[in-house]
Amino acid sequence: MPILVIAEHDNASIQGPTLNTVTAGGRIDSNVHVLVVGQSAGQAARAAAQITGVAKVLHADAAGLGESLAENVAAQVLAVAAGYSHILFPATAYGKNVAPRVAAKLDVAQISDITKVIDAETFERPIYAGNAIATVQTSDSVKVLTVRTTAFDAAPETGGGAVVEMVAAVAPSPRCSFVGCEMTKSDRPELTAAKIVVSGGRALSSKEKFDAVLTPLADILGAAMGASRAAVDAGYAPNDWQVGQTGKIVAPQLYIAVGISGAIQHLAGMKDARVIVAINKDPEAPIFQIADYSLHADLFAAVPELVNAL
Ligand code: FAD
Repeated sequence: MPILVIAEHDNASIQGPTLNTVTAGGRIDSNVHVLVVGQSAGQAARAAAQITGVAKVLHADAAGLGESLAENVAAQVLAVAAGYSHILFPATAYGKNVAPRVAAKLDVAQISDITKVIDAETFERPIYAGNAIATVQTSDSVKVLTVRTTAFDAAPETGGGAVVEMVAAVAPSPRCSFVGCEMTKSDRPELTAAKIVVSGGRALSSKEKFDAVLTPLADILGAAMGASRAAVDAGYAPNDWQVGQTGKIVAPQLYIAVGISGAIQHLAGMKDARVIVAINKDPEAPIFQIADYSLHADLFAAVPELVNAL
């Protein structure tokens, strides 16, 4: 049976997490289909058809589906679900909003945040903030999975040549409507897609110092900025910069943790970074246990020195 991947997109292009989810789908079965639900989303559907490993794109298009409201996307997934053994979503805010609705309606148990496919019924997923890996097996007739995108390589965006098949669009739910969207505009790379992340903790001591110390380093490296939960809770950094168990999961090439102790909940969001640099004045700080490069120093001296040296 084919595998269905639900695309995250902006009606014009496919978002990165969909590419990792296609790779995860391909580990279950080579017959991967992608569902694009939107309004005037032909460009996104055509982009999905170009992804290597995609055999078919289902495209549902109608007025009212353009904002990807979870109620409508879930209804559309259910409308095409028959005939699929697995339905996969990226474990992003988008996927995590839709997948439980689909699983509940199908009366199956969702398996969240898979990091490995062992076979078509058996998956690995992290538990206890990544301190243990659970092997989960399901006999449900349809497997509804969310995929930890950092655990699977992105499928190449080009090289495929799938057919795009229009499917009947569901009527948008009268019980929900799109009110508005406030997007933060930033010249920086998106946190979960960035190759370099500069992240700050409670030690920065104020929003002004957080910005003054870390922004020049992030600018020089072309990095995204992240933060510990303590820094976010204290108002030094916005919510969507939080890295960790209850924040974002990142796996950049380089993660620079500045004045972050390395609590397990923080490590859960960044320990898969390829190279970890930690700057901390406490030689016993747990972050040093996972750091590739440990700088035991006062960040207020070390970071400006680093910026000057760069
Ligand atoms: P601290 O633990 O206070 O560490 C500050 C560090 O800065 C210390 O190591 C100190 O030595 C160092 N320091 C101080 N001054 C300087 C200086 N001048 N120069 C250099 N170093 C200095 N946390 C997250 O980050 N993300 C999450 O998603 C998250 N989710 C959570 C979920 C749950 C259910 C719970 C219970 C907790 C969660 N936390 C999360 C919180 C987590 O447990 C820690 O409290 C938090 O990560 C600590 O942030 P911090 O390292 O910035 O602060």
